[in-house]
Amino acid sequence: MRITNEMVQQKLAELQFKEVSVSLSEFIHTSEKEQDSYQAFLYRILSFEAKRREDNKVLKRLKLASFPYQKTLEDFRIEEQQSLSSKQLNQLRELTWLEQAYNLILLGPPGVGKTHLAIGLGIEAIYRGYKVMFLAMGALVRALNTQDITRKSKTTVKRLLNADLVIIDDIMYMAMDQQEANLFFHFINQLYDRTSIVFTSNKGPEEWGELIGDPGITTAILDRIIHRVEVIHLNGDSYRMKNRSTIFGSISVHE
Ligand code: ADP
Ligand code: MG
Repeated sequence: MRITNEMVQQKLAELQFKEVSVSLSEFIHTSEKEQDSYQAFLYRILSFEAKRREDNKVLKRLKLASFPYQKTLEDFRIEEQQSLSSKQLNQLRELTWLEQAYNLILLGPPGVGKTHLAIGLGIEAIYRGYKVMFLAMGALVRALNTQDITRKSKTTVKRLLNADLVIIDDIMYMAMDQQEANLFFHFINQLYDRTSIVFTSNKGPEEWGELIGDPGITTAILDRIIHRVEVIHLNGDSYRMKNRSTIFGSISVHE
């Protein structure tokens, strides 16, 4: 039987090797030019497919993470943030804290890069194969409150519990009632010791009690969060303010 390109392409497509299938002639052409062995030809095709599948997985994880924007650690200008050294940033980037289920608390006033840093670490984790979920504190409380009512919230909570890293942005932005505080405690307790949580906040943990309300629940929540935690204080002027553009043209307040 004479095997045609079309026959091979059809088999490849059946096996979901879609892009290899489309570009089969090019692969054959390159391998002929390089005088590839049979092994080298096969290896070329399989490597391409493996890379494509991995890239797709990363894209899917990036989408599921639901970051409000995608900025990486490379986009983070460490020279603008005097309270963090590039050595510390590199240590964070290595993600040993994530492997050891450490939590991070990123503290500081608005605009200093807390959310950017959290997203940057989240993206790094995704490229390293971890499942990440980002959500603002308000959205988390809403999801916990309605998980028995809406399918969407149920899915969100399930994904959060399945993630390797959960980023809770602007924690303690709002006061909680007793029921919400209970739900929040239950949630933290479920993640405790197996999932890393990155919190961003403009208030230190010592002030969280005011918003959680119940002192007993506050202690129980803090115990679990603080058990293994690294607190990072970011300060300095707001990056937004320094680099804002104005109606009179872009300004820079750098001396
Ligand atoms: P917040 O601390 O309020 O969460 P963000 O992380 O949202 O602040 O930062 C505000 C804006 O400034 C974002 O667009 C962010 O990318 C940018 N930004 C803040 N700090 C830096 C930095 N060191 N390098 C680059 N961009 C920064
Ligand atoms: Mg923020």
